[in-house]
Order: sequence, then structure tokens, then C-alpha cells
Amino acid sequence: MSNASLNANGKVPSTEGRDPAYFSYYAMLQHQQNMLQDTVRTSTYRSAILLNGPVCFHDKLVLDVGAGSGILSYFAVQAGARKVYAVEASNMAEKMQKIVDAANASGNEVPGKNAFLKDKIEVVQAKIEQPNLPIPQVDTIISEPIGVLLIHERMLESYLYARDHYLKPGGTLFPSTGSIFLAPFTDAGLWSETMGKARFWEQQSFYGVDLTAVYADAKDEMFGMPVVGGFDPRTLIAPANPGGYLVDFYTITLEELRDFTIPFIWQASYTGIIHGIAGWFDLQFSPPATIQNGNPITMTTNPTAERTHWQQVRFLLKEPLAVNAGQTIQGWMRCIVNEMRSYTIEAEILLNDGTSQLSDPLSSPSPILNLDYNRRRNKWRLHEQTYNYSYYPQTGNDSIFRPEYSCLYEPEQPLDVTVVVENNLLDDATNNGQFVL
Ligand code: SAH
Repeated sequence: MSNASLNANGKVPSTEGRDPAYFSYYAMLQHQQNMLQDTVRTSTYRSAILLNGPVCFHDKLVLDVGAGSGILSYFAVQAGARKVYAVEASNMAEKMQKIVDAANASGNEVPGKNAFLKDKIEVVQAKIEQPNLPIPQVDTIISEPIGVLLIHERMLESYLYARDHYLKPGGTLFPSTGSIFLAPFTDAGLWSETMGKARFWEQQSFYGVDLTAVYADAKDEMFGMPVVGGFDPRTLIAPANPGGYLVDFYTITLEELRDFTIPFIWQASYTGIIHGIAGWFDLQFSPPATIQNGNPITMTTNPTAERTHWQQVRFLLKEPLAVNAGQTIQGWMRCIVNEMRSYTIEAEILLNDGTSQLSDPLSSPSPILNLDYNRRRNKWRLHEQTYNYSYYPQTGNDSIFRPEYSCLYEPEQPLDVTVVVENNLLDDATNNGQFVL
């Protein structure tokens, strides 16, 4: 791990300080219900488990990490699991135990509740990281450890812990991979609203007091808050890189998960103003390659798809950046864990003019690049989220006026450009830096 992901004491920022608040949130039925009622989420997990029942669940030992209300454990039993170990740290474990007890009490004489679950589930109320839990090595691990932009909440670290301690070699991880997608967006309304909040601190005589000394701090704070919510997919100025940035839960290490950099390169489909970077993710459920006859399943949270409770997230830039259709923009986004059960995120984007170079994302502290006309950089704290739910996908009425979309100019001729990027950073994500756009 690079030093940047370590705190001042040289330690990985701990999540433990947040545990009481975190687990009392999940101890509430209303919050479990919110996830259960996310139909895209719950039905995708169900399909992934049932469609892979014969190969990954039938007669298998299963571990459910962060079982919550137990829904994934119940699906695993429906898919034929021999035994499911349902580990849940919050007091939601007691609620789950009630469902399991009711099932275990069911007899032949009195048809009971959920007789199919009888004697199939062991509820373990503990953090998965607690040593010496009564759990054997299992064939399959299921979990829903996903937060905003895939990584918020840092529960993926617990998922990897479970993988490293309880999964038999060659076992299945559901989900198996996640992919993070980033694309530039335009939204003058959102940008102006955010700027308006910061400008409060630009006043020179607020009841006779000059506030301007903290104006720069106000801008850092307001523009450092990721905006969670949906948006019109047509406000994306360029498509995200195909396939996104892959996080392979079978192979990624804890260190790699705690500090990683996503390189990207975009070609603007429109002439317009970039106000920031939009992000979302996909989840894949694929049995390991050694298992024959699996049924890979994918779930997407992209802005054109049915909404999920994760929504999408947008990272605003303090200074917008104008682009012409066809121009290339390259950049990176670096995500480093923090003590708030989340990540501190920094990104840079650069309009490719043939002369400038992207900065090194690993250089710390960041260079100050105020005067670069073609470069933008900002820092966000993924836990300081603000919400914007003002976008409702249109219901067949194409005449709805969408100012941001109307400001975008598409080229009349199709673009046919090949860009060669000389930057090792991008080699991993691309075919040796060659982009055919
Ligand atoms: N599996 C359920 C709940 C998902 S929410 C479902 O799909 O509906 C994540 C759950 O994991 C929460 O209930 C939370 O309390 C629990 N959790 C988070 N970190 C944990 C850890 N380290 N050990 C055990 N449980 C954890």
C-alpha cells in the first residue's frame, strides 16, 4: 500500500470508530426494508443464486457475510444449500433469528412458517472479523457489501476478510466482480446551485462582518461533496470507458482495495461544458472458471437502467471545462480509504492538446495547478454526500425541456479519430495505450 492510504500514525485508517453508528443503522428494519424493496438489487441476487443453484449452492456450505434480514441466506436455501452460516454484526441478527426459530419450530402436524428453512441456517451475531467464529470452510460466500460507487462503507474489506479466512480453494464468491464507470457530465443548474451556496461566504458585510477569509474553504467544502441521485443520461458528454474499472473480488488484495487509481480517457460526443465526473457501477455474479455450467449474471446501476437505491454519484468541479465534440480528455481518479468508513477521492482531467501531461496521481502533495486552462483537479469525501433527486426519467413525453441537454452540440459528421496516448498509466486499462475512438 502506498503511504497516502496510511494515517499519521502509519496505520490503515480504522473503520471501528464508526461501528456503533453503522451497526445501529442496520439494526433497524426500515433500513433493511429499503434494500429489500430495491427490486433490481434483490431480484438480481435471487436470479444469480437460483440460476447457479445446481453448481454453487446445491448441497453446499454457504457463508452469508452481513446477512441483515437474512434474505440472501433464504435464497441460498431455496437454491439447495446444505447449511448457511448467516453472520450479522448488528442487532438485526435477533430479528433474523426469529424467522429462523419460527422455521425450525415448524413440524409436520402444524404446517409452520418457512418449513423449507428448517435446520438449514445458523445465525451468528458477530463481526466477521472476530476471531474463532464457529464457521467451517465453505464452498460459497454470498454478501451484499456494496455502497455508493461500489466502495462507500468499506464493507468490501469484510467481504475480502471472509474470502481469505473461510472460502475453500476454488470456492464461489457472489458477487464475483464489480466495475466502476466514470464519464464527464454537464449540469449548469447543479453547478450554479452549489456555487450559490459557496458564494454566501463571499459577502464582505454580513451583519457588518467580512466573511471572505473562508470563501475558498466554503468552495472546497461545497464542491467536495459528492452528489448522489439520478440524472438525465443525455447530460453525459462522453461515454464511460467500455468495461469500466474492474474490481475482481476473487483476486484483489486488501491493500489494492484501500488505495487505487482509475485511469480513463474520453472522447467528447458533444460540444459543451463539463461540470464534473459522474460515476456508477456494475456487479457481476460469475462462478469461478473451474466450475462448469455456471450462469453469469450482471446488475447495472448505470443512468439509463432502472433505478436502484445506490442511484448514481456526481463529483463536481470547482471550475467547469469547455470541450469541443471530438476532443479527447484523459485523467485519473484516485480513491483512498478514510476513517469515516469511506474514501477520500481525488481526480484530474486534462484536455488533450498534444503538449500537456497528466500529473502523477501518486505524487503527494498534489501540485497546485490553478492556472492550467486545460486541466481540472478536485478532491471529494465520499461520506459527505449530498442528495439531488430532482431528475425523474421521462415517461414517453419527449417535449420536456431539458436545458443541459439542449446546450450540447453534436457534430453533424460522424467522428473518425484515432488517438495514441503515451502514458503508461493507461496501459492497464487499454490495449497498449491505443484507443480507436
Ligand atoms: N445481506 C442483506 C443485508 C445487506 S446490508 C441483504 O442483502 O439484504 C449489509 C449488512 O452487513 C448490514 O446488515 C450490516 O450490519 C452487516 N455488516 C456490515 N459489516 C459487517 C461485518 N464486518 N460483519 C458482520 N456484519 C456486517
